[in-house]
Amino acid sequence: MEQREKDRAAQEQPGEHRTTITFLGTSGAIPEVGGESPTFLINGRYLVDTGWTAVANLRNRGIEPLELEYVFFTHFHHDHYMALPSLLYYWLMRGKPLRELKIVGPAEDLELIVKRAISFLHPERYYGKDDVPTLIPLLPGDGYEEAAFRLETCATVHPVQGLCYRFMDRRSGKTFTFTGDTAYHPPIAEHARGSALLVHESALGPVAADPANNAYMHAGAIDAGRIAEAAGVAKLLLVHALSSRAESCVAAAKDVFRGEVEWPADGQTYVL
Ligand SMILES: [Zn+2]
Ligand SMILES: [Zn+2]
Repeated sequence: MEQREKDRAAQEQPGEHRTTITFLGTSGAIPEVGGESPTFLINGRYLVDTGWTAVANLRNRGIEPLELEYVFFTHFHHDHYMALPSLLYYWLMRGKPLRELKIVGPAEDLELIVKRAISFLHPERYYGKDDVPTLIPLLPGDGYEEAAFRLETCATVHPVQGLCYRFMDRRSGKTFTFTGDTAYHPPIAEHARGSALLVHESALGPVAADPANNAYMHAGAIDAGRIAEAAGVAKLLLVHALSSRAESCVAAAKDVFRGEVEWPADGQTYVL
């Protein structure tokens, strides 16, 4: 059975909606060959960051990019939004109005990046100028809700404005939290409390970050484990490093966190 059909089947148990998180990439800022920077899909409809290759990545997994309803950007560093122009181009080529794609992201850069992505596509020559995605800019601390889900955000510690999202699926009642890129930041534990799952970056590998030597403001797996332990979540998923570091990162986080720790495989779906 295709992964997508499995996801659907998981969601379509009679009377029971299941929240799914499908990982499309967990690699570094320059992904390894065959890999992808951190990006994942919630419920087959909501894309979290685009990585370098969102369109090809989704299609290779049998997922139709036109079925996306939202993109949630954690922050606007290139490895997290590089594929936005190709995603918008795909929609234009397929004749689907861009306004039907809702894009949520940090207020500091959301409009600028989406405008530049559209301008790169040269719409005055090829497309109508007025068709633009629906933007939902958020400041850290802001929330957003619609019929299917609720988002709450808090700040991350990173060189650009970032949002750590707490996603509540109204249909299943399940909640999980994902950090985007961030240095060790204890308020994230408060924000994640009560979540079934925490997705935390560990770009620095199986260590705790040295605050005096952390110019790029990332976290290590020990930092992520400490946040998960303080939050009391059941499971921690680590992302944002080369796969060769996955095992040592998981082991390091387990030293400080009593729950489950995994490094998701590309294509792996978690069902809450
Ligand atoms: Zn990154
Ligand atoms: Zn970043």
